[in-house]
Amino acid sequence: MAEDAALECDLLVRNAYVITLDERRQVYPSGAVAIRGRRIVAVGPDADVGSYASARTIDAGGGVVHPGLVDAHAHMTLHTTRGALPDSPSESQSQDYFTTWMHALGDDDEHASTLLACLEMLRNGVTCFLEPGTAYEPDAVASAAQRIGIRGSVTDAYLWDRVSPAYHELDRAPADHARSMKLLGRQLARNRDPDALVRGHIGLYGAATASDELERAAKAAADEQGAILTQHQSFYADDVADDDARFGGHPLAHFADIGVLGPNCTFAHMNAIRDDETQPVVDSGLTIVWMPGNYMYYGMAEFFKQRAAEMYHLGVPVAFGSDVAKVWGFGEQGYLGFLLARAHGQFLAAEEIMEMTSRSGARAVGLQDRLGSLAPGMLADLVIRGTGAAESHPPANPVRDIALIGRTKAVDTVIIDGKVVLRHGHATLVEDEDVFGLADASARRLAARVGLPPATIWPEGRST
Ligand SMILES: [Zn+2]
Repeated sequence: MAEDAALECDLLVRNAYVITLDERRQVYPSGAVAIRGRRIVAVGPDADVGSYASARTIDAGGGVVHPGLVDAHAHMTLHTTRGALPDSPSESQSQDYFTTWMHALGDDDEHASTLLACLEMLRNGVTCFLEPGTAYEPDAVASAAQRIGIRGSVTDAYLWDRVSPAYHELDRAPADHARSMKLLGRQLARNRDPDALVRGHIGLYGAATASDELERAAKAAADEQGAILTQHQSFYADDVADDDARFGGHPLAHFADIGVLGPNCTFAHMNAIRDDETQPVVDSGLTIVWMPGNYMYYGMAEFFKQRAAEMYHLGVPVAFGSDVAKVWGFGEQGYLGFLLARAHGQFLAAEEIMEMTSRSGARAVGLQDRLGSLAPGMLADLVIRGTGAAESHPPANPVRDIALIGRTKAVDTVIIDGKVVLRHGHATLVEDEDVFGLADASARRLAARVGLPPATIWPEGRST
């Protein structure tokens, strides 16, 4: 009888091409996944796992099932700027609009922007995000994620104590050591609930905006409390030059010297990695969040050769982040990274892209012990793809299709924490139209307050 009870589950996904990303990277061409509560209890051939008695069964129709993707650096509350701010070659003008927009954000705007970002993430197969510390009100982000049913991690906004080229003057978040120390680690209270869907992490803004004293305090807090430490790092030519000047050397070598690097560090951008910084990064075990879209958008190739693929091949965990989604959707950074690596004479296989978006992503958010693969005991965060996308045919190589060709087009159903939160392309816990309505209204209000120019350079015809 005990054996019979063990073969019961709450949700069974059958008739699927299961890509597990487990230790062996096992694939089951005719597979099934059994879920009990919020965790996976069995993964394997449909002929075996399909025999579980389940309260609910989803027939994947032969579609691909894989672990949910992780976006390890997404400014959720700034998502509604996408398409709204001018795509101007004059960077200073765009930055002025951007800063004005940030000043104008209310809690409702942050909530609406996050709702929209979360919904888009689900539709594109992203099941977990990390907000890197620019949300004025982390509760506005957390409550939106919970409404949509997506996993996330938040921190307090703009912890910095140094004026540098990456610093923007913000009345609500001045560069101040005492303020930053007071807020450091406040969001970790969320982790007291081991099953929290939205967790907290330690975050500094970074990119030359933190003193060594603040860096040390942040790393110590992360170590003491078993959390990860995130920050922007080595983003643009001017913050890198600022770091070089103040340290009298390169920043990653300096950070190694003062003992603030470790496997619980998740550093975003890392566009500049000089030769003497390579080994400290490898030795520390830190995770890089690679944002190939941003690298290209800001013309980084003019300053720094692309090294993310090289670092990955040296054993550094490299995850993907979309940053502020400018002209891309969620779930597209792997494709951009693949092409960017090739443009710089390097190569990443489709399998490596998938590992970076799942396993490395889980590592980047500090959840590698429970996320990033489909295996017994892991949290049930998974994506079911349909077979109707033209790009997915012929189904010669499902991994290449997911990572590079079809990308996000075939996402049909998403399960997070054992719950079906997207079914046939629509959110199940909220009405998609309600999310669009809230986000669109917020963006309209903000555009009016910022005084944005017309959306297109083409003349608009209107009746008189
Ligand atoms: Zn960022």
